[in-house]
Amino acid sequence: MEKLKFQKTVQGREIALYGNGGKCKCLIIGVFHGDEPQGKFLIEKYLESNPESSLYFIPCLNPDGMAVKKRTNALGVDLNRNFPTDNWEYSAKDEFFGGESPASEIETKFVMEILEEYKPKLILTLHAPFKVVNFDGNAREISEKISKIINYPVEENIGYPTPGSFGTYAGIEKKIPTITLELDETCPVVDLVSPVHKIFDLLT
Ligand SMILES: [Zn+2]
Repeated sequence: MEKLKFQKTVQGREIALYGNGGKCKCLIIGVFHGDEPQGKFLIEKYLESNPESSLYFIPCLNPDGMAVKKRTNALGVDLNRNFPTDNWEYSAKDEFFGGESPASEIETKFVMEILEEYKPKLILTLHAPFKVVNFDGNAREISEKISKIINYPVEENIGYPTPGSFGTYAGIEKKIPTITLELDETCPVVDLVSPVHKIFDLLT
């Protein structure tokens, strides 16, 4: 698999996009939140055994947060509140801080550029700990299939707005079906390999 694009974070760690070229049917993103490291392990493990995969991957979007097991990036911004959605708003400087301005963060801009350049038809992001298959946009059917594999319920994001979230940005505003898979954090990550890799295969 090729490293197609990369970017250094403010602390000099690398964020990278991997793929084999060709049409981008599906982009999979791990570690939006540094205290949810499962995605990186599951993606890297998949790449070892599926180097010819047609999927595109960002194994770890928030390496600075992950280095200190924190939700936010190095500047204290929740990347999942920093996207330039219509409902973005300046928020309290807690662990959900959306940044000084929309798309202020390097990590956010990196993802936005990839959506422009590669135009994925579907996006899967890996989070924890809620054990749910959440979706924004036209992704119910595929979410039901994912639900059957991993045994978490499906939930459409139609409740309270999450200003600046990636699901709102990509799924609702850019109309790219976007699935947020919330993994069980009490489950050892090695036990998530089988169901999550089946899900990746399904999206191939
Ligand atoms: Zn998360």
